[in-house]
Amino acid sequence: MANSKYEYVKLFEQPDQLLPNTWAVVRIDGRGFTKFANKYNFEKPNDKRALDLMNAAARQVLVELPDITIAYGVSDEYSFVLHKTCTLFERRASKLVSTIVSTFTAYYIFLWSTYFPETPLTAPLPSFDGRAVCYPSLQNLRDYMSWRQVDCHINNLYNTTFWALIQLGGMSSTEAGEKLNGTFSKDKNELLYSQFNINYNNEPEIYKKGSVVFRDYELVEPGTHNTASEGESIAELAAQPQSKTQVDNDRKRRTKARVVIEHLDIIRDDFWDRRPWLLS
Ligand code: ATP
Ligand code: ATP
Ligand code: MG
Ligand code: MG
Ligand code: MG
Ligand code: MG
Ligand code: MG
Repeated sequence: MANSKYEYVKLFEQPDQLLPNTWAVVRIDGRGFTKFANKYNFEKPNDKRALDLMNAAARQVLVELPDITIAYGVSDEYSFVLHKTCTLFERRASKLVSTIVSTFTAYYIFLWSTYFPETPLTAPLPSFDGRAVCYPSLQNLRDYMSWRQVDCHINNLYNTTFWALIQLGGMSSTEAGEKLNGTFSKDKNELLYSQFNINYNNEPEIYKKGSVVFRDYELVEPGTHNTASEGESIAELAAQPQSKTQVDNDRKRRTKARVVIEHLDIIRDDFWDRRPWLLS
């Protein structure tokens, strides 16, 4: 270890550890993707290739970082959930966020040509921002995931109707915006059906629900297990520390498991009940 009179500058580094024993979510989001989508002529309202690329990049992030239990993506964003027992990089926020963002970005660019074979990337290249937020309870985490999926649903219903008015109804974007101003979900559903014969329920799941990426083990029949215990006390945690072999085995199991991409409802209990390993 080199010692020098300059080494004191290390003391200027601020600690930024995420709160222990909490679910940490790292959310990344494409920088200026409204413009990026126009540059590469993304189909409106949903470009399937762009979503598949986001999903493929997120999948690689899970493959390379076994501490991530599940991820949820919509549009140009992805949320990566770190298990509450995760101690990767001593839970330092900047290390975790920057590693996830750069791994994701690297794969997004690396895989681009697979999904857009006819359109080479040119500068400025796509980039992503990222942040980490800690959720102390399982309910908070579930609510976070629900929040993102509800957002996906609301935006997609709006965008599907908005672009139908333009592409099929011949409206300008101003006219379409005005037409939808103050409407509720049921109005948009009705408008889609009566005017364009589109049943929103029949739209592709990937657009309506977004994408969930997780490790696939055997499905569990609902009602045959106890869901992860909420709010274990500090005494309980101290009394039964996870042994090193147990941690190693969990890690090995996670590394081996297949990482899958699905488009499922993550708001209702069913998804979580059937996959108890995600939150236990
Ligand atoms: P910021 O840098 O603040 O995030 P932004 O332009 O990326 O700005 P967002 O709110 O993140 O704004 O919105 C992302 C935009 O990217 C969407 O509004 C949409 O226009 C576009 N977009 C992302 N993915 C797709 C896709 N698969 N198909 C079509 N458009 C997409
Ligand atoms: P961490 O993930 O904690 O950063 P690390 O293995 O990347 O771990 P660093 O402290 O970042 O550790 O050190 C980077 C190491 O990479 C150097 O010690 C050196 O061995 C190697 N390295 C980086 N750049 C070069 C280079 N141009 N030529 C040879 N070796 C290099
Ligand atoms: Mg943004
Ligand atoms: Mg963005
Ligand atoms: Mg976004
Ligand atoms: Mg290094
Ligand atoms: Mg270094």
